[in-house]
Amino acid sequence: MADGTTDETRETDTESILGGTAVDARAAIRKKRDGGKHSADEITALTSGFTRGRVPDYQIAAWLMAVYFRGLDAEETLALTQAMLHSGEVITLPGLPGPTVDKHSTGGVGDKISLALAPIVAACGGFVPMISGRGLGHTGGTLDKLESIPGFRTQLATEEFRKLVRLQGLAFGGQTASLAPADGRLYALRDVTATIECIPLIVSSILSKKFASGTRRVVFDVKTGRGAFMRDRERARALAHTLLDVTRGLGFEGVALLTDMDQPLGNAVGNALEVVEAIDILHGGGPEDAKALTLALAGEMLALAGLAPTAEEGAKEARMAVVGGKAYKKFLEIVEAQGGEPRYVDDPKQLPRAAKVHPVPSPRAGVVAVLDAFQVGEVVVHLGGGRLRKEDRVDPAVGVTLLKKVGDRVEAGEPLARVHAQDAAQEAIQSLVAAYRIEDEAPARGPLVLERVTGATPAA
Ligand code: URA
Repeated sequence: MADGTTDETRETDTESILGGTAVDARAAIRKKRDGGKHSADEITALTSGFTRGRVPDYQIAAWLMAVYFRGLDAEETLALTQAMLHSGEVITLPGLPGPTVDKHSTGGVGDKISLALAPIVAACGGFVPMISGRGLGHTGGTLDKLESIPGFRTQLATEEFRKLVRLQGLAFGGQTASLAPADGRLYALRDVTATIECIPLIVSSILSKKFASGTRRVVFDVKTGRGAFMRDRERARALAHTLLDVTRGLGFEGVALLTDMDQPLGNAVGNALEVVEAIDILHGGGPEDAKALTLALAGEMLALAGLAPTAEEGAKEARMAVVGGKAYKKFLEIVEAQGGEPRYVDDPKQLPRAAKVHPVPSPRAGVVAVLDAFQVGEVVVHLGGGRLRKEDRVDPAVGVTLLKKVGDRVEAGEPLARVHAQDAAQEAIQSLVAAYRIEDEAPARGPLVLERVTGATPAA
């Protein structure tokens, strides 16, 4: 391993952290309301009290709102993350013959990167214990995408998850009730108390789940732009810094890329359509932007894990794993190991397909100046590719194929995109036309990877 320690040696003692100290929730709320600083013990006791049902929802809701306005400093955020991480099972992966490494994306539209990235990195010697999420709001989720492969199981018991990582070098799992349960309960309260958009709460939520899955290293893909949760670049950068501060405070390693999510990533948005695109990437094809980001992130992961001297060298190794067919073979193996039928991967035309495909004609000639990722994401959710209510089932077949993206020239009436729907899709077509802005001149284009963030939060 890069740092000479093994995955076992740094495991923390769960019991001593949870402690079980009684907490005066009223005093804690008052302290935060008045701008005070919590001790680590107070935060641990509050989190543990809440998880064990000793502190009621209404007091935690009040505390969350106090945190929203007053914030948590670096030490408090670290203490909260520790407490949430150890609120449940922490998967350990002792004795692996290579380093663990994972990626976390803050969520985007058309972001199918994990599907190709994890097998690429596993094919290059990394061990990727990947716990992913479902679609959230206008963004898609890796689990929903993988489940469009008939038979693919993402609900894995811990033992099976461990075994897959050991034998295959990767596993695609979902959040379970036993992993960071404090996060599940806190997130549900944040969702209904308008306290989601708070960097310390977001960081503790992301990291408690990530590091409960057994990885010791994470590359963060922090999205910014129209389709990102952090639209504003300054806030996205602050999120990246805090993610790295807390990762290091926990004794783990991380690096972050700030990437553009103004327009969707790749050309496919929708579950099965994105699986097809990920398979194309594994075959060395696929759209340039999605392919480039996959290789950039793979390079970062391999460098962070000590499997490549630099991220650039890592990206070259990743490309070789694709060109040589090792990465595709690894994907096929993991699909089979998780119950998916490999014939759908070998022949993606067999994946679920929508009944109708409607063209979206351009209202005028010109150059695409804007393609709003948020609006495209919303179109796909409304087609049934995402959830409007928590209990909704997603339709794997529906979605959008983008034929024109920012900078592309288009004639009047030429298709900008195609809508894959089960029925007529007039509304989706109109919304997609509105998602595009066509102008006379080509716009100035920025890079996809906007910044690489490695350091700690700059002093205020
Ligand atoms: N993703 C998470 O896992 N948690 C948050 O709080 C926000 C996004």
